[in-house]
Amino acid sequence: MGEQWIYLNGEFVKKEDAKISVYDHGFLYGDGVFEGIRVYNGNVYKLEEHLVRLYNSAKSIMLEIPYTMDKITEIIIETLRKNELNDAYIRLVVSRGVGNLGLDPASCNAPQLIVIAEELAIYPKELYEHGLEIVTVATRRNRPDVLSPKVKSLNYLNNILVKLEASLAGVSEALMLNNEGYVAEGSADNIFILREGVLYTPPGYIGALEGITRQAIIELAEELGYALKEEPFTRHDVYTADEVFLTGTAAEVIAVVKVDGRLIGDGKPGQETQRLLDAFRQKVVEDGVKVYPSASEVEVG
Ligand code: PMP
Repeated sequence: MGEQWIYLNGEFVKKEDAKISVYDHGFLYGDGVFEGIRVYNGNVYKLEEHLVRLYNSAKSIMLEIPYTMDKITEIIIETLRKNELNDAYIRLVVSRGVGNLGLDPASCNAPQLIVIAEELAIYPKELYEHGLEIVTVATRRNRPDVLSPKVKSLNYLNNILVKLEASLAGVSEALMLNNEGYVAEGSADNIFILREGVLYTPPGYIGALEGITRQAIIELAEELGYALKEEPFTRHDVYTADEVFLTGTAAEVIAVVKVDGRLIGDGKPGQETQRLLDAFRQKVVEDGVKVYPSASEVEVG
């Protein structure tokens, strides 16, 4: 692979030169928002949905993004072309920008936009073949009335604490509950369970990120004829489910086969999970904003 180029505030710089100030409030306080987006076969998957979520996160924290969505789309496409990427992971970051040491964002002169596009570190095939073991962690999802989990902010300490607990327990993912003890999500993935042919996923008000993959799976499940319910459930429901899986941009759809020592079903990735993963993978290569339009699609003039 050749040089890696990062888009940083209006220009492309080499990876080793892509540096920001220690006075950036994104660094000092986690003051900013981000997105993780995937490119399949030269198609940026659900770009509009990711941009809407980015702008909504920014609005929620009163961060004005100094670019239109069209401009950011152009920048993303340019970044992918410059790095000659066809299958990739894009990290889009908008930080509050450089200010003084005080908390007040008023001291920050301008938000910074960063676009990183990299070859995707795909999860090992074995993880999909064998499924994940997860544990419930003590860290609870931050309450929607304190710091809304719907804001995809640069403050990911809540999720990092979850990841640390999972690692300490010797597993790679975890189950996070909300303050009332209902199942919320994983450290960076949404959760679904299947019981007697019905799919369940926690509703938005439980407190989880509104995952783009979650929404895609809800739509796919409806197309494929599954009954789907967005309603609260507990760990007991997870333990006794027929199938459990997590969804996210990086993981796509991944089976969970053991939760807190309890085998899910027969301890192997479930058939319906596999069916949804196959259908999802088939869809993603067809959908999306094209990075490299064919000659007939290029506007002349
Ligand atoms: N929950 C959290 C906390 C996340 O960080 C992510 C990853 N963005 C998800 C869920 C899954 O969301 P998506 O499908 O949009 O990647």
